[in-house]
Amino acid sequence: MKRMRYDLIIVGGGITGTALLYTLRNYSNIGNILLVEKYSNLSELNSNSKSNSQTLHFGDIESNYSIEKAKETKKASNMLLRYIERLPEDERKSLIEKCQKMLLGVGEEEVAFLKKRLSKEMQELFPKLKYLSKEEIAEVEPNVVKGRKNQEPIGALYSDEGYMVDFGKLSTSFVKHSEDSDKGGLELLLDTEVKAVKKSGEEFVLDTNKGTVSSKAVVFAAGAYSLYFAKMLGYGKNLSTLSVGGSFYYTPNVLRGKVYRVEKGSVPFAAVHGDPDLNFPDRTRFGPTATVSPLLEKGNFNTLLDYIKTAGLSGEAILSLKTILSDKDIRQVMGKNVVYGMPVIGKYEFLQKEARKIIPSLEYRDLKFAEEAGGIRPQVIDTVKRKILMGELKITGDKVIFNMTPSPGATACLQTALEDSIDIAKFLGKDFDEKRFRQDFISED
Ligand SMILES: Cc1cc2nc3c(=O)[nH]c(=O)nc-3n(C[C@H](O)[C@H](O)[C@H](O)COP(=O)(O)OP(=O)(O)OC[C@H]3O[C@@H](n4cnc5c(N)ncnc54)[C@H](O)[C@@H]3O)c2cc1C
Repeated sequence: MKRMRYDLIIVGGGITGTALLYTLRNYSNIGNILLVEKYSNLSELNSNSKSNSQTLHFGDIESNYSIEKAKETKKASNMLLRYIERLPEDERKSLIEKCQKMLLGVGEEEVAFLKKRLSKEMQELFPKLKYLSKEEIAEVEPNVVKGRKNQEPIGALYSDEGYMVDFGKLSTSFVKHSEDSDKGGLELLLDTEVKAVKKSGEEFVLDTNKGTVSSKAVVFAAGAYSLYFAKMLGYGKNLSTLSVGGSFYYTPNVLRGKVYRVEKGSVPFAAVHGDPDLNFPDRTRFGPTATVSPLLEKGNFNTLLDYIKTAGLSGEAILSLKTILSDKDIRQVMGKNVVYGMPVIGKYEFLQKEARKIIPSLEYRDLKFAEEAGGIRPQVIDTVKRKILMGELKITGDKVIFNMTPSPGATACLQTALEDSIDIAKFLGKDFDEKRFRQDFISED
């Protein structure tokens, strides 16, 4: 470590932490910034391309988004497109690919839902979104129709304006274009895990496995661990977390683009969808499943104790879980996902109930569990209201921000960075050039 004291420490080198670093380095006069990441590479967890579905969300095929949420989502994704457009061609091509996408409705109820969803307002927001009948679906995504029972009605909302993004490579790009800013004062520490944080006078003191560092302000962009540290500093006492693990299955390449499905209203997890994979052009990925797990990182049993501390298994937290699980839709989704996790029968049930809804001709032998893929979605719970908090979750305290669940996911990174940068500049009495940032990234400005 070159120095011990910083103006700002960002904990977490995923897409949220790196987008913030890029924004502050290029649009503010904040001097000494340290970014700390516990793994030896950036974006080893949820922002990695193997952990998430690589979708740049726009809000057009996400059936559970209101029109307001769709507007925000479109704005957030356009910010990322603006960033990516300006990259040199090689770098740009390595992290994004255009593809078609659709929201598929299966059965009369879902088909009627789709027709209603394509309201005048929605059509104005997404001029390229159109309704496709079964025959029209067969032309753009033949395997969705092939082998389907004649009497099963289907329809889709379709657009050719979809994108697959490698959010892991995008975070490397954010750091690269932070380092090439000619100001000094940036330090990046990989393999460095923050173990504890406390306030000492006006400073935050962070203990890491490589020594102690301190700063005037801190942003935790550490996924579920942000709530762990919030509790250490006395914030988020009324919050708990439910870790929902998401896994995937691979099949041979059966889709030309993304096929999302209609989701149930009160369930905070996306319904299983089919996606091409930037890393494996010869495969299609189906998922994610949604399995409750007492861990903060998928498959990492060393995080069990930290999960217990973060969830704070008090009477209120347990009662909240009971209330949440009494919701019929949530119980149903969780129940079937428990079955998907079982050996042999799990794969069979996933095939019947999920994958064949999208591709009816898939066979048991076509599906292979994607051992190395998937992540954990931290669902934050309000233990007073006893409900899952939907959408973005962050706590802004005294010179400290805890980002837990960005919404809509990794797509929201520059929008979150904009909001955080405004707060951090105020915390530190520094300048953030919001006008220039908006001119560069937000179309209507
Ligand atoms: C199954 C699944 C599918 C998804 N699909 C999509 C999608 O298609 N599109 C989309 O936009 N979003 C998607 N998301 C959501 C998206 O992946 C996340 O919202 C996003 O990656 C969160 O980024 P982050 O930087 O906040 O967190 P993370 O990527 O989890 O990064 C947190 C970082 O903090 C580090 N860290 C944690 N604790 C410490 C510590 N103590 N000290 C130092 N470092 C620490 C971690 O190592 C990690 O690198 C999906 C998520 C899941 C789980």
